[in-house]
Amino acid sequence: MKIAWGMITKKEKLWVKVLREKYKIGEDGKDTFFWTDHWIPGINNLSALAVGPIPQEELRKKFVTIPLLKTIGIGACSISCSLRSMLQDGAQGSDSDMWKKLWRCPVPERVKFFLWTLSHDSVMTNNQRKRRSFCNSDICPICNNAIESALHAVRDCGHVKEYWLNLIPSNWKHDFFDMDLQDWIHSNISNKSEWNTRFALSVWSIWKQRNEIIFKNKARSLVSIKMMTDRYMEGITKAGLINSSNDLNPQPEKEFIRWNPPDENWSKMNVDGSCCPVLAEAWAVKIDLELARNSGVQNLVLEADSLIVINMIKNGVEIDHPLFPIIAGIRDMADKADWNVTFSHTLREGNRVANVLASLAHSCPIYMQVWSNPPCMCVNALQDDVRGA
Ligand SMILES: [Zn+2]
Repeated sequence: MKIAWGMITKKEKLWVKVLREKYKIGEDGKDTFFWTDHWIPGINNLSALAVGPIPQEELRKKFVTIPLLKTIGIGACSISCSLRSMLQDGAQGSDSDMWKKLWRCPVPERVKFFLWTLSHDSVMTNNQRKRRSFCNSDICPICNNAIESALHAVRDCGHVKEYWLNLIPSNWKHDFFDMDLQDWIHSNISNKSEWNTRFALSVWSIWKQRNEIIFKNKARSLVSIKMMTDRYMEGITKAGLINSSNDLNPQPEKEFIRWNPPDENWSKMNVDGSCCPVLAEAWAVKIDLELARNSGVQNLVLEADSLIVINMIKNGVEIDHPLFPIIAGIRDMADKADWNVTFSHTLREGNRVANVLASLAHSCPIYMQVWSNPPCMCVNALQDDVRGA
């Protein structure tokens, strides 16, 4: 690292010129072929180390210029100023949003970098190693049961999944395990409470333990992931970076949950989606909003059990987010001046009737089904709402 820093900041020094000439390193690496050039002291070239054929497009790849270089030369440079530079100059859209949120997370910089690398699917799982011809198999070496993708490594692999299931509230499970890599990281680090911190540290601890299992033959252990994460959390709390009075674990609510009627002069709509939860629920909100508006409702509470969808509606999403058209449509309609709309999140237990009705959607022959009386399948759910469950 020291040599690399010197090569960038002391270009006039003789030793830098010699090294640059010897290893054919250009001004910023953009003229250097990653696989075939001779750029690592003591090693011929990386293509000689590959265990299989390297695809032609990989062989043509050169180093990329990273924004880090833009801040070098100012004087004292830290990772934080590089990140700011990236935010201001380069990264756009959801990438920029991801950075901002990661940057606000009170976790060590290596954890932020790891999560950013992970969000770009660039950590060295077997899936990536095989693509780069570093190995012949993309199967997970721990469970031997699936391709070792980034999401598999930090979320879905057997004991890791168990870790998350012990940590997250039951009403998060559906969405939590259904999201793709970027949405999963983005939505969890967007959480305003200390959850973003615990999430980031958990992912980091899982990855560290995974490497120790694979490369040092250590035993897999849920307890040690939890202990490692707790230790980090404790340090961060003691440093005053998060409020120690906050509950560190997002526990499910203990009180009885039931559907609650809206205030006087307000109407309430409960929505739910039956498949592909986030997408279906976002569509359900949009369609229900149109239905309420066409029915002349003046004051509406729209309630859903997907925290992700409710947060997306409340906070908006970037223009390149796949759900942008739906979310923007919902926000536009809700903002119209001639009615009042609020969005609220409820736990799944408070949304049971909508949940049952959504599950009937698969067997309904037409686009919209209207019941003048509750169908018999809803009776138990309605009784639960009365009692609380
Ligand atoms: Zn696995």
